[in-house]
Formats: sequence, C-alpha cells, structure tokens
Amino acid sequence: MSWPNWLPLRENLRSLSPYGAPQVPAQAFLNTNENPFPPSAQLQAAITKAVSDVASQLNRYPDRDAELLRSKLASYINNLSGTDFTFNNIWVANGSNEVIQSLFLAFGEGSALGFTPSYSMHALIGKVSNTVWIDGFRDSDFTLNTKEAINQILLHKPAMTFVTTPNNPTGGAVALAEIAKIADTVKTLGGLLVVDEAYAEFSKELSAVTLIAKNPHVVVVRTMSKAFAFAGARVGYLVADPMVKDAMMIVRLPYHLSSITQAVAQVALDFKDELLAGVETLIQSRESLITSLSSLGLTTVKTDANFILFTGFKQNARELWSDLLKKGVLIRDVGLSGHLRVTIGTEAENKLFISALKELI
Ligand SMILES: *Cc1c(COP(=O)(O)O)cnc(C)c1O
Repeated sequence: MSWPNWLPLRENLRSLSPYGAPQVPAQAFLNTNENPFPPSAQLQAAITKAVSDVASQLNRYPDRDAELLRSKLASYINNLSGTDFTFNNIWVANGSNEVIQSLFLAFGEGSALGFTPSYSMHALIGKVSNTVWIDGFRDSDFTLNTKEAINQILLHKPAMTFVTTPNNPTGGAVALAEIAKIADTVKTLGGLLVVDEAYAEFSKELSAVTLIAKNPHVVVVRTMSKAFAFAGARVGYLVADPMVKDAMMIVRLPYHLSSITQAVAQVALDFKDELLAGVETLIQSRESLITSLSSLGLTTVKTDANFILFTGFKQNARELWSDLLKKGVLIRDVGLSGHLRVTIGTEAENKLFISALKELI
C-alpha cells in the first residue's frame, strides 16, 4: 500500500495491511472458523424478544459496565472449570479482538511476544497500538516447546506473552501443566501471560482460568464467536484478576457494548446447553474429516479446535485454495507454505469439501 504525502498517517502504520480473509461467494464457507449451525428457532425467537424489549429503551445508554452479562459469563466459566469467579473477574467487549486491543492499550508498554505461526491479530493489534511485537517460534511440527518458549521469554522480557491454545491456525492445544510452567517464568519478570482460548470448548484440556486464583498475572481471553455460534453478535471476554478488569475500565470507550449486544449475549448464555451440543457434533465431524483427509494421502496437524491444518498436496497452497474455490469450497490459505486450513462445517459442507479435494489432488 502506498499512502499519499498529504495524509498524516502514523509512521508505524504505513507498512501494515488490513486483516481479513477474502469475502467471496461460495457454497461451503470453511474459512473463518465459524460455527456452521445457525441459532435454533427457539433461540432466534428468544433473541428477537430480547431485542424487542431493549428497543423501547434505546434512547438510553447501555449499562456501561455490562454487569449482568459479566455475571452470567462468570457463572458459565465457573460451571465449566469449577472456579469461583464473579463479574469482577470478567471483562466483556465487542469480540475478543477488542479485549485484546484493550490489553495492549493498558499493558503494551515495551514489547509483546507470541509464538508463530499463531493468531496474526495479536501481532497486528500490538503494532497498531505502538507495542514492539516479537515473533517467537514453535517447533517445526508447530507444537509449543515449553523450554524454548521459556528461553524466548527470558531473552526478550516482554510486558505481555501470548499463548494461543488450541492454537490458530495449527490447531493443537498446550497442556495446562505447560502453561503453568510458562506462567511461573512470566511471573519472575513481572509481565502478563495472555492465554487466548478462543477454541477452548473444542478441547479436552483444562482451561488456564484455573491458574488465575494463584497467578494474578494470567489473563484468559475467550469468545462467543466459535463454540457459541455467535460470531455475528461480536462478544468476547476475558477472565482475570479484578485488577486487570479495573485496568480495562480505564482504556475502554464509554458505553462500548450496546444494549442490544448485552441482551442477546445473555440469551445465548441461557441456551448454552443447546449451543454446546453443537460443539460435540463438530468434534465428531472433525475426527471423521481427519480420517477422510488421511485416506486421500494427506497429512493433518494434530488439532483440538474446530479446524484442521493439512498438507501433503502436490500443488502450492494458493493454487489448491483457488481450485477449491472454483468448486464452491472456500477454505483458508494461512500463508504457511504447503499448508491449508479448513474449518469443520456441516455434514454437507464437509462432504463437498472432500469430494472437491478428491478431484484436485
Ligand atoms: C477467532 C479468534 C479470535 C476472535 O475473535 P472474536 O470474534 O473477535 O471474538 C480470537 N483469538 C483467536 C485465536 C481466534 O481464532
């Protein structure tokens, strides 16, 4: 991108490009790790009712602190992880990306470290907020090597260390015991460990929220976009020590979360059993998709999420990506040589993907 001289764009933004997967027509959308199941008729009706209740009060600002929603999120996490959190341990915003941005605004003095390949928005939000971003590394099989990770943390002494588990775009989860070791190292340096658990509900690993009581420097970021099938509503949150939440309140924009968002997110949490049943279905589909890919002679990277990174095809990744798109299947070229990422879709979408792939490789 070349910018005109008259535009006083900040120097550190000039070399950046906007984040985004191609938004193009297709029959199967398997590119952004959304949940393929739309809200049930009952959930749609409950959402409609909630919006209509809020409609009569839209002249008023929303609850600035979203306390009811934060209490519900605390109960949801307590139920899953046996913890004892209250709304004071939760911060909620328009998607976990906004949460991550607030973390950078509050704590991004100095540098931040992540282990690539990982979620590219950590780096981008970091750079946009003037934090020095350091690309750390993983083992060549994309697993996080705890010892190496600790060495990198000791070397760079970042203000924030990011670990994504299950990792995107590779899929594997990090065991809680390993996260705990990394947390111990981060503690000695006075930094924060940010654990991005966007796909936690798809994994059998225990959540890092269980570390927070003894480790106030551990911050866990979660989202309703993936497991909760609520990407369009834009709701993400963090679980942390109340002091982290207090810092979020300094950097947040006033009334950042609309009344409508707050109301519909509460409804979705009331339907959590129904929504999480969809997660089980997706986990089963994931396992059968792994089998299908292997029987086509392809190699899959170990995954605990709702997507699979695969390799072993003869064309380059961009070529296979665009040939699949011509057959109506949109998956993701994540910029890793020889690899493509596919999101688990409905049974029909997965079938279409496999049959298109069969013709191409
Ligand atoms: C999808 C994703 C997110 C976030 O999304 P929001 O929709 O902004 O909540 C955050 N982290 C990772 C690793 C993701 O893959």
